[in-house]
Amino acid sequence: MIILVSSGLLNVLTLGNKKVSAMALWPFVIFRNQELLNDKVILNHERIHHRQQLELLIIPYYIWYFLEYWIKMFKNGFRHFDAYVSVSFEQEAFDKQSEFSYLNNRQWLASWTYFKKKFKKQ
Ligand SMILES: [Zn+2]
Repeated sequence: MIILVSSGLLNVLTLGNKKVSAMALWPFVIFRNQELLNDKVILNHERIHHRQQLELLIIPYYIWYFLEYWIKMFKNGFRHFDAYVSVSFEQEAFDKQSEFSYLNNRQWLASWTYFKKKFKKQ
């Protein structure tokens, strides 16, 4: 994992969304500022995304992520936050971000469980 601290880069990548404090773009994690480097929960959240990205060989992860995001955007009346938190990868990362040993025991393709759960609800 290569850690970068750049508010400017994060602004470009998020189209100016200043609420985003960090982003995982394998092999990088980009933080908005130095203080956030001490936040173990955010770091664990981004580590979970790295694992997700690696197991899907990076590019398919982003395709799946953005497809799911845009489907949710259309379904939820173009509310970014609702779409973002409903993406399966984010649900796993938010659900497990405070379990610091989670990645030691995580099953392969664990995000699929979150995807299936959501599918069953609809
Ligand atoms: Zn996330």
